[in-house]
Amino acid sequence: MTDVFSSADFLERPSIFRDLDPPAILGVFGDPVMHSLSPGFQTAALEATGIRGQYVRIHAQAAEFPSAIRRLPEAGFIGANVTIPHKAAALAAVDEAEEAARLAGGVNTIFVDGGRLLGFSTDGPGLARAIREEFLVDLRDVRVLLLGAGGGAGRAAAAQCARESCERLVLANRSPEKATALAAELAPWFRSDRLQGPADRLVAIPLSPEALREQIAQVDLVINATPLGMRRTDPSPLPPSLLTANLMVMDMVYGRGKSRLVLDAENAGARAVDGLPMLLHQGALAFEIWFNRPAPIEVMRARLQADAISP
Ligand code: NAP
Repeated sequence: MTDVFSSADFLERPSIFRDLDPPAILGVFGDPVMHSLSPGFQTAALEATGIRGQYVRIHAQAAEFPSAIRRLPEAGFIGANVTIPHKAAALAAVDEAEEAARLAGGVNTIFVDGGRLLGFSTDGPGLARAIREEFLVDLRDVRVLLLGAGGGAGRAAAAQCARESCERLVLANRSPEKATALAAELAPWFRSDRLQGPADRLVAIPLSPEALREQIAQVDLVINATPLGMRRTDPSPLPPSLLTANLMVMDMVYGRGKSRLVLDAENAGARAVDGLPMLLHQGALAFEIWFNRPAPIEVMRARLQADAISP
């Protein structure tokens, strides 16, 4: 277990990170941050590639977060990850953000370029890599139903679908007005008429059984970006009766056991996977941004799988 630092450490005594042995060069900012699985597999990646440095947890409250990350260069960091609830604030605080981050509305990876902070979002590209690895399909070739289009993870997934121009995207959300607003924003990416048939390429619907039933026959891949499934008592975001064997299901939620959605999908004969492959690939992409070299993916995967099941 790595140590936990705070945003105050960056503001009041940034030199402490250089004095650690090995020095802290990377970390994850969040609130809460103890649950993050990134320190384990990123540390394994540093060790496997012989890079001297450690990856630490940084507990940061909203008010201090923007000024804390501005001190990353002074603290000797190469970069950082950003998790709940700071991704949107990170986008506002960096000097420059790539397109994926701007479209996703958040930054989960920061690269320190001299005194400047560059912002990236590897959530969407990590999701795309996980889907390719697990289901042997590219987003551009599938029709996607996205559950939970109103949150940060949902937005990152929708942005990736747009950038890859997936065949069809159905945005479903409990608060339907957020799905409608996101659809309006992404509409320019879906102008061309790739799809054969009468269905619209980009649709916003409420997360209701009736609306989902109307759409399910016209999608291939279901992505859950709601937090439903994080607790054992959570209901599934999709009624089990709508699941069929031809579907692929990617649940972004991960935990010790299988979520209700993954269990229901498997019972229906569908291929289903939890959020660990996405977590792995978003982390591997961050490593590639920081070090401009391939990430030791199998080492990272082994460590993540071990940490995910440890009590
Ligand atoms: P978030 O911002 O809190 O997500 C909120 C979204 O979920 C909104 O669309 C919200 O709908 C919907 N929602 C929340 N509670 C709901 C409920 N009870 N019923 C129906 N919809 C509900 O969280 P996030 O950061 O996007 O993360 C969402 C999930 O993805 C979390 O489980 C997180 O751990 C996971 N995640 C996984 C990875 C990975 O690498 N595997 C990466 C990022 C996130 P409204 O708009 O109506 O409120």
